[in-house]
Parts: sequence; C-alpha cells; structure tokens
Amino acid sequence: MEITEVRISLRENEGKRLKAYATVTFDNSFVVKNIKVVEGNSGLFVAMPARKAKQFCPRCGKKVDMGSHYCNHCGVQLPPPPKDLGPSRQTTHQDLAHPINQEFRDYLQSKVLDAYHRERALGPKEEFTKESPEVQS
Ligand SMILES: [Zn+2]
Repeated sequence: MEITEVRISLRENEGKRLKAYATVTFDNSFVVKNIKVVEGNSGLFVAMPARKAKQFCPRCGKKVDMGSHYCNHCGVQLPPPPKDLGPSRQTTHQDLAHPINQEFRDYLQSKVLDAYHRERALGPKEEFTKESPEVQS
C-alpha cells in the first residue's frame, strides 16, 4: 500500500503539543483524517485518530470516559478498568485506524512528518477550504 497524498493543516497556535492535523490518502482511494502531529518528549511523532473509550455508569447508566474514577453525572465511584487490557492509553483510547506493522508505521510517520516540515517551510498562509467553513478570528 502506498501513501499517495498527505495534506497538512498546521495547528501551532492552538496547543503546545499538537502541531498539525494530517489527512492521508492511500493508493488514491482511501482517506484517513485527523491524524495528528504531536510534539513528544523525544521529538515529533504521529498519532493515529482515536476516540475516548466509554463505559456505562453502573448506577445511573450514563456514558462516562473509560479510566475515570468517578461518574461525572451522579458522582458514584467507578470500578477500575480490567487489568488485562494493557497500557492505560489502550484502555482509555481506541484507535479508529492504525497500521498493524512497524514497517508501515515508520513509512506513514516519515511521510507525514516530511509533509509537515514542508508545510512549515512554506510559512503560515491564509487558506480557506471547503472542509473548514468556520472562519477563525
Ligand atoms: Zn453515574
């Protein structure tokens, strides 16, 4: 599988660690959005799109974030997540799409970071795209 296009949307002003969003096209036929370029402790890395995992409160039945200690609706103490689910990010976040081998992970990361550096070298630009109708002031 080949990455045929990477589009970068710089987000340098919005947070300290999040640097950009990437939209990546595979084989001219499949697009993954919301891939993030994040400044980590040992440099930039690419984070795959993820959502917070949810669980249901045993008392009030409302949805609460996995990994929360207390229900933010009724305040009841929640049971800890099962220990056999691995590292904590795995239990609190679910990747929506991700590479399943190191080789492709490295390839994806280098393509995204290349595009990010290219975009930064171009400098900030005012761009209005159909995909982001909200105008930022
Ligand atoms: Zn509750």
